[in-house]
Amino acid sequence: MLHFEVTKKSGKARRGLLKTAHGDIETPVFMPVGTDGTVKAMRPEDVASTGAKIILGNVYHLMLQPGIDLVEEMGGLHKFMNWDKAILTDSGGFQVMSLGPLREIDEHGVKFRSHLDNNTIYDLTPEKSIEIQHKLDSNITMTLDECLELPAPKEVIEKSMLMSVRWAERSYKTFIDRPGYGIFGILQGGDDWTLREECCRLMSDIPFDGYALGGVWLNVLFETIDFTTPFIQENKPRYLMGIGIPADIVGAVLHGIDMFDCVLPSRYGRTAQAFLKHGGTLNLRKGSMKDDPRPIEEGCPCPACTKYSRAFIHSLFKENEILAAMLLTWHNIQMYQDLMKNIRQAIDNGTYEDFATEFFAGFERNSPAEYAKFKSPNRTIILKKS
Ligand SMILES: [Zn+2]
Repeated sequence: MLHFEVTKKSGKARRGLLKTAHGDIETPVFMPVGTDGTVKAMRPEDVASTGAKIILGNVYHLMLQPGIDLVEEMGGLHKFMNWDKAILTDSGGFQVMSLGPLREIDEHGVKFRSHLDNNTIYDLTPEKSIEIQHKLDSNITMTLDECLELPAPKEVIEKSMLMSVRWAERSYKTFIDRPGYGIFGILQGGDDWTLREECCRLMSDIPFDGYALGGVWLNVLFETIDFTTPFIQENKPRYLMGIGIPADIVGAVLHGIDMFDCVLPSRYGRTAQAFLKHGGTLNLRKGSMKDDPRPIEEGCPCPACTKYSRAFIHSLFKENEILAAMLLTWHNIQMYQDLMKNIRQAIDNGTYEDFATEFFAGFERNSPAEYAKFKSPNRTIILKKS
């Protein structure tokens, strides 16, 4: 059981407190992605120093390497990776579904061959996924669901959604409830509003500790949130899976989302893209960075900004030095944590709508091309990921 309370509202935006066995989490919260038991290129203690209180791990990756039994023998994922704060684990559904011809799926579950080793056949059922997340000692367990490739015909989406609801029931029954640990259900339904509604109604009958939105089309992101949230009880956390850029987060909070995760800050950290405070990005490989003595972002407390110049980090990327990814990942994770802090502060002040308006104006002014992409009606689909 997880205790969650909404402590303040500003419009639809919510401030909340989520209590876990590994610490309290102020929401809205961003969870850095540590798929394989590590936020790539950062030590866990450095991730914690940015203000992160919870990270995300993944059943699929940990199952293949180093193996769940080994992590359990080592005392669980917190101990194994030296992270004493909270952990949410993804059920493995999305990764397994994206294996294409390497997997077979039916009512029972999924059989798959790993992308690392074609010979071993793994069997992942809703029950097994929950047992694995228990062995990992995950604070927030996610149900196994089918992540469809969209677009798909309505009858295909419906069949898949109904099976995912049956899997959610099986997952819920398998979960062993204990204080400070909880299980979240995932709301699917593709881009069909009647199916989204049916899924919400069926899933809200199962008393999950929180609900996640999966398989959301970016071009109707905010509409989907508005459509979905009335079906979720007020005192349950709402988690938007796998999204997104800072503007998506600012917008989604405006529409009532409490929890986020996304690979972008760490992935961009390895590909020379720095997130800036106004919401846009800066390419550190660009020629103009070569002799730029300024920090990536003035006022950012991360070591990349307080100790090094754009010119130095540009040079590291040019040489493919490991330090480049380390510094820039740190910066990006810090930017996301600071964004969440500012979001929480604005909700506390009751001025979140003004904060969001100002944020979007700054994003448009400073990064018009990226802003135009964000506003484009043809933004591509983002499935729950990582
Ligand atoms: Zn920085």
